[in-house]
Amino acid sequence: MLALYYGANQQAVLQELPQPEPQPGEVLIRVTLAGICGTDLQVLRGYHGFQGVMGHEFVGVVAGPQNSSRLGQRVVGEINVSCGACDLCRRSLPRHCRQRQVIGLKGRDGAFAHYLTLPAANLVTVPAQVEDEAAVFTEPLAAALAVPEILPLPLKSPVLVVGDGRLGLLIAMSLARSEVEVHLLGHHEAHLALAHPYGVTTFLEKEMPAGDYEVIVEASGAAPGLDLALARVRPRGLVVLKSTYTGRYPLDSAAVVVPEVRLVGSRCGPFGPALRMLARKWIDPRPLIDRRFPLSQGLAALEWAQRPGVLKVLLDCREEG
Ligand SMILES: [Zn+2]
Ligand SMILES: [Zn+2]
Repeated sequence: MLALYYGANQQAVLQELPQPEPQPGEVLIRVTLAGICGTDLQVLRGYHGFQGVMGHEFVGVVAGPQNSSRLGQRVVGEINVSCGACDLCRRSLPRHCRQRQVIGLKGRDGAFAHYLTLPAANLVTVPAQVEDEAAVFTEPLAAALAVPEILPLPLKSPVLVVGDGRLGLLIAMSLARSEVEVHLLGHHEAHLALAHPYGVTTFLEKEMPAGDYEVIVEASGAAPGLDLALARVRPRGLVVLKSTYTGRYPLDSAAVVVPEVRLVGSRCGPFGPALRMLARKWIDPRPLIDRRFPLSQGLAALEWAQRPGVLKVLLDCREEG
């Protein structure tokens, strides 16, 4: 099978690999579409020293083993593969499992390939009314839905979302659908406009109103976003940090300690609610799709995804010809 592989020479290459064999408890998935995410671009810069088949956002069809009860089902998959036995798994924190693997990011091959394997327990069936082009957004939308899980709801004042990239937009849209008043700060008029149908108030940085916010979500992917969040959060307020930055962030601890700000990290979220939102058409992520490439042009797709202002780039992983 064809796969986009990040190797020891610290380069992504298109490679023919043997089709993976599902282990006991696992299924083989034929990948239909996969999405390129900011974290994949960080892999190209050496994120956590990952080596293997890239990619973690996908929708596909169960293709094996032949006796699987899910054969032929259209599925998405939780990206964390946990052991089920360690102290954190037993405390219902499988996403923080001590032996955790993450497809395409940590110790396990990912979805930029014709096929991948995953434990059957990781699969979630895609409802018929959710098209593949929307279902491929389940993982990033689930990550967006991790934000309301930690907010002190209901909120009496607007939440500021920093960043009008893929994740910032999904966070702004999903918060707006959760009856939260949302302000979205970004750099691209065209991106900000995608949030307007959801009732989100948007600003370019030079238009930002004065004043502070009880809750700020940093999803810009760049360190100045956290600078801005810490400068604009109200004393005793909450900053939710969704971005991981390449390299270290020089934190002035006084910016957290003196105003007694809570700075909380947030990563993955629930797939079920994300798929329900897509099935009810509460969120239509498809306007975020910038371009679609066949897997055989995966290297061009990675390059395209790194251009400034590009939203979601999809890989069509179906076998050609
Ligand atoms: Zn991602
Ligand atoms: Zn575990």
